Amino acid sequence: MLPSILVLVLAAVAQPPRIFDRVVLGGRVMDPASRLDQVRNVGILNGRIAAMSAGPIRGRDTIDARGLVVAPGFVDLHAHGHDDESYGYYAMNGVTTALELEVGVGPVDRFYADRTGKARVHFGGAASHFFARRIAFGDTLIPYDQRLADTSTKWSHTPTNATTIPTVRRVLAEELDQGGLGIGMGIAYTPGASAVEILRNFELCAEHRVICYTHIRGAGGGVGGFGGLQEVLTDAMVTGAALHVVHINSSSGANGGSPDAPEFLRAIRKARAHGVDVTTEAYPYTASSTLLQSSLYDRALDTPGYDFDRIVWAATGEHLTRESFIRYRAQGGVIVHIGGPDGNLHPIFRDSLVMVASDAVGYVNHRGNPRLAGTFARVLGRYSRDQGLFSLMEALRRMTIMPAERLQGSVPAMARKGRIKVGADADLTIFDPATVIDRATVEEPAQYSAGILHVLVAGTPVVRKGALVEGVFPGQPIRREVRGSAR
Ligand SMILES: [Zn+2]
Repeated sequence: MLPSILVLVLAAVAQPPRIFDRVVLGGRVMDPASRLDQVRNVGILNGRIAAMSAGPIRGRDTIDARGLVVAPGFVDLHAHGHDDESYGYYAMNGVTTALELEVGVGPVDRFYADRTGKARVHFGGAASHFFARRIAFGDTLIPYDQRLADTSTKWSHTPTNATTIPTVRRVLAEELDQGGLGIGMGIAYTPGASAVEILRNFELCAEHRVICYTHIRGAGGGVGGFGGLQEVLTDAMVTGAALHVVHINSSSGANGGSPDAPEFLRAIRKARAHGVDVTTEAYPYTASSTLLQSSLYDRALDTPGYDFDRIVWAATGEHLTRESFIRYRAQGGVIVHIGGPDGNLHPIFRDSLVMVASDAVGYVNHRGNPRLAGTFARVLGRYSRDQGLFSLMEALRRMTIMPAERLQGSVPAMARKGRIKVGADADLTIFDPATVIDRATVEEPAQYSAGILHVLVAGTPVVRKGALVEGVFPGQPIRREVRGSAR
């Protein structure tokens, strides 16, 4: 009898042993926010990180992370694919939060309602200038999932007029009130929008204290125009709005080797030094991707010597000719545009201002730009490990705490993401630093990245032992809490 009495006495005086929902044991925890780089055991309870310990801990489920890096789940600020297949590619690439900020989503309410309870990763979107223009000019309203083949141009090309500016403003304000994460403006895609219309959007961002996300104006086919950058920098300065310039690699012309590309980052750095709240991002491919019917290709047919062969029709993988360009442009759909050598991007990625964001577009017939499947593993494996552009900690910083901190001022939920500490969301990406690599290519895009072994979204594995877990949907809506709203 004595031993069991002893046990009872000990149990009464000692702390009851905590049993976590799940524990990640023996991994090299790398947290760029705190600079922690140590072997730790991580305990997860109710979707949050509840313990970090060098000593033993126990859970109802155990993930053995010995020999692996345990990083905060990657935060992708620029993700267009919001279907189950895309979410699978994100998860296998270590992404736990995928946000459509460049051009936004509309209506915001419907975007969230359609995905809640059905997403492998956290998701969210900005209020959309495109959507507001569709309403202002009486164009068809296209559900988010059907926009890829839409060939209407009323919303994009009709010039601003005195009556449409207030409508655009009203719609964007309503969409922000629905919890939109900021205002997404693909300015290059709306040649009808005047400089004043764009300025008004920046005023709205300033009033609502949200970020304006912009694909700046520029010449067609992914080649940048410096005037496009000057426009948004001026608007941010004049209004005091926060500005995020998406894909500085393609918008500066770096993809094609433009000698002016470094000037874009120089201007952004100088503007920051003068108090403008501006940030930027890049994806690690010189191949771009967009819709062939979009305004980016308005001038292709009139450009002498235009190289149609560099454009790949995603649905079939065929390279275009002048004839097929015309045919497919009338039909509408996704293309991949081949760029220059990969080294063109190294000066962009060497700059500490540049976050990693994928600009992922959902595949068509399992084809499209490999950035959907490979972006984050490519930066870790190729740019950091193999080419030494930056340390592993620095690579992780660009894809975790940097984007999370960018958003958390306007989106409080992001203050619990992008970092590993007690109280943070248990979004974790566990990978082998020796083998992590992208495998998707322009020719064979439907290939998951390698070396990403376990991915937890709010504490639930969506990737386990290197394979996608089917039938689990722990992804939560990332939405602004608007005062006075029910949510
Ligand atoms: Zn873009």
